[in-house]
Amino acid sequence: MEKLIYLDHAATTYVKPEVFEAMKPYFVEEYGNASSIYSIGRNNRKAVEEARATIARCIGASEPGEIYFTGSGTEADNWAIKGAVYAARKKGGKHIITSAIEHPAVLETCKYLKKEGYDVTFVPVNSEGLVDPADVEKAIRPDTALVSIMYANNEIGTIQPIKAIGEITWKHGVLFHCDAVQAAGSIPIDVKDLGVDLLSISSHKFYGPKGVGVLYIRKGVRLENLIHGGHQERGKRAGTENVAGIVGMAKALELAVANMDQYSKKIRRLRDKAREQILNRIPYVRVNGSMEHRLPGNLNVSFEFIEGESLLLLLDMKGIKASSGSACTSGSLDPSHVLLAIGLPHEIAHGSLRLSFGEANTEEEVDYLVNCLAEIVERLRSMSPLYEDFLKANK
Ligand SMILES: *Cc1c(COP(=O)(O)O)cnc(C)c1O
Repeated sequence: MEKLIYLDHAATTYVKPEVFEAMKPYFVEEYGNASSIYSIGRNNRKAVEEARATIARCIGASEPGEIYFTGSGTEADNWAIKGAVYAARKKGGKHIITSAIEHPAVLETCKYLKKEGYDVTFVPVNSEGLVDPADVEKAIRPDTALVSIMYANNEIGTIQPIKAIGEITWKHGVLFHCDAVQAAGSIPIDVKDLGVDLLSISSHKFYGPKGVGVLYIRKGVRLENLIHGGHQERGKRAGTENVAGIVGMAKALELAVANMDQYSKKIRRLRDKAREQILNRIPYVRVNGSMEHRLPGNLNVSFEFIEGESLLLLLDMKGIKASSGSACTSGSLDPSHVLLAIGLPHEIAHGSLRLSFGEANTEEEVDYLVNCLAEIVERLRSMSPLYEDFLKANK
């Protein structure tokens, strides 16, 4: 079989066998509609409500009724932001504060709202990739309807000071949404401790199935609906429940929370080993983003004089699946907005690689990765006229 070393857990994860087992009955046997009154429907209703209670417990919500199932993390982000500002419109709210390094699910939603006539402030990050809570406070206006700041960044893994921002939004009476999609499963989440009103998570980032997410809506917070139709999710998010997905998501989050210490220790060790070896063996490399406030499994490095896409393709040929963490992969040639926001010049941002470690990775895989990287980087640089000029100039 072709070698497969999967180092892209920030993009998605496989489904854990225990999770798949928990989901199985809801495809062939327990197929009833959760809104129906006969027994196979009732069993499904019960499964959905148990999953809701589990997820509420795992993120520290006050009650299961604060958990709303959606079709993805993207939908949860869209609902939180559009739902909050549309509800605030009647009271004159028309301003959103977010950061420069959000996921497209937040960034593009805010840009869309800007076209609709809302004002958006994109607070910057420092060279470590961190938001300064004071910048958020300075940006608050009387018509600010929502602050939306991510918990952990999907490209560089930096963890934002959510609790400090939560204290500020609370003081000013402004709603606070947090995209915790990348954080969930890797670091603890406690919505009350963080002081958030709205929080998004997505199952496929923590070894659950794709196509199911959650929006936590603190009791008393009113959002406009995004999806209209039937009475599912207490009339707030129409559409027949994805029962198997919901059950799988709850099981995956329960496992993630129970094993978090062990898991984060393991992936941190692999990540730190990879970082150390790369820095030791390859010249003209920089690590992007704070190492202190960072997800345990994330490493983002830039290789000077290298084109990230070529690097990814050559790694793929060696069986190593990684990402540039940038929009390049989706067909755009612009370098990552996150790397530009932390101050990287375009040409260096272009030579970037995101490695995100997971449960099944091993020390041997890290050794293999670094060997391949050293070889590929040297090969690509030997073909680079820029590198040649650089060497001549520095002789
Ligand atoms: C993956 C991701 C999303 C989108 O979640 P989907 O379920 O894939 O739609 C949103 N925000 C962040 C930070 C992510 O990493």
